[in-house]
Amino acid sequence: MKTQSILLRYHEIAIKGDNRNWFEKCLVQNIKKTLQRTLGQNAPIDLQRIYGRILLNTEWNSLTSECLQKIFGISNFSPIQKVQTNLDSILLGILNESQTYITENGYPQSFRIKTRRSEKALEKTSAELNQYFGSEILKNFPAFKVDLKNPELTLGIEIRRKESFIWSQKILGSGGLPVGTQSPVLALLSGGLDSPVAAIQIMKRGSPTSYIHFYGTPFVGKESLQKIENLVRVLNRYQPSPQPLYIIPFGSIQEKIAQVTQPKFRTILYRRMMIRISNEIALKIKAKALLTGESVGQVASQTIENISTIESVSQIPIFRPFVASNKDEIITKAKIWGTYCISIQPALDCCTLFADHHPALHSELNQVQAQEKLFSVQELMKTALQSAEMMIL
Ligand code: ATP
Ligand code: MG
Repeated sequence: MKTQSILLRYHEIAIKGDNRNWFEKCLVQNIKKTLQRTLGQNAPIDLQRIYGRILLNTEWNSLTSECLQKIFGISNFSPIQKVQTNLDSILLGILNESQTYITENGYPQSFRIKTRRSEKALEKTSAELNQYFGSEILKNFPAFKVDLKNPELTLGIEIRRKESFIWSQKILGSGGLPVGTQSPVLALLSGGLDSPVAAIQIMKRGSPTSYIHFYGTPFVGKESLQKIENLVRVLNRYQPSPQPLYIIPFGSIQEKIAQVTQPKFRTILYRRMMIRISNEIALKIKAKALLTGESVGQVASQTIENISTIESVSQIPIFRPFVASNKDEIITKAKIWGTYCISIQPALDCCTLFADHHPALHSELNQVQAQEKLFSVQELMKTALQSAEMMIL
């Protein structure tokens, strides 16, 4: 297996001063853990922090590239050649790089040189170096055409004091912040399209994310749970360590609520129970917020009044990354992140069990609280928490 040096870049904007050290350490650890999970514990993985960048030496194949694309905090990366920092060695490097490009892709329509002096090592400015190397390339490859705005081939040179880097490929990463740079969150995960994507969005802001699913057993089949497990497997690829999934058997609890309450309030009552139970689990695992895939107006339980009636039982914030997104925007993301194919598989969610065809659209808190006097919230919560199961996938 070929080992390759890869230059990893991250956005520097959020990480000034002391922050940078902590941010980089977290990112380096995440890269190591994620690559080990993908390539195997014994795969060669050497990581070095060099100012403003991370240098990785590892096996280079499509798996490595896909894996790096899922690590939040990396904005883009390039396989590189290392050369000594002097004009002749750098020139030889970019000539080799051009030749390799031609062998693999044919002659490029156009090219440019992009020099970045990370350390001021040579006696020329970046613009002077671009001109110098550009004219040398044209001498060696007279068919090349310069295009500074939109070239097919960019030959990148990153100048450092002793060793410089040459690259011709920049692969886009996912950006965001390294998972672990923000506090943990607990995601309420249904088998639908929205909540899995919402979970990835919050990981992208740096929060390790655990999952909780309310399982409509015995009124929904095993396929509902299977679907959740498959989704969690995909979601866990976006964080360095797989996080736990809590499963709460919920069908019998819903049945008890449905036996004594008005049909039009049931979905709201279920959802308030879900939030209360999720608060307890969050407290236990030190998650600082809950997360849902809700979007205003998408379904009856997501009117502003109903969202507020549901949220009033929460002691911690509830994040809703898609509150103002359209379904098609969420679907586009689901396809990019790889959850779409699983989410569209048919399986019943517990929310619809014993629910009314005409649910209350503008619930008032006192009406809902009156319904909750008809059963023991505490007892149902106790049952739910006692029967909770945890798994790591
Ligand atoms: P999704 O596509 O995520 O299922 P949705 O548009 O179908 O969302 P609802 O079914 O009303 O909307 O659910 C709203 C949110 O409540 C979901 O995004 C999810 O976060 C949470 N939720 C719904 N059902 C469950 C469940 N069975 N277990 C855990 N969370 C759930
Ligand atoms: Mg749903």
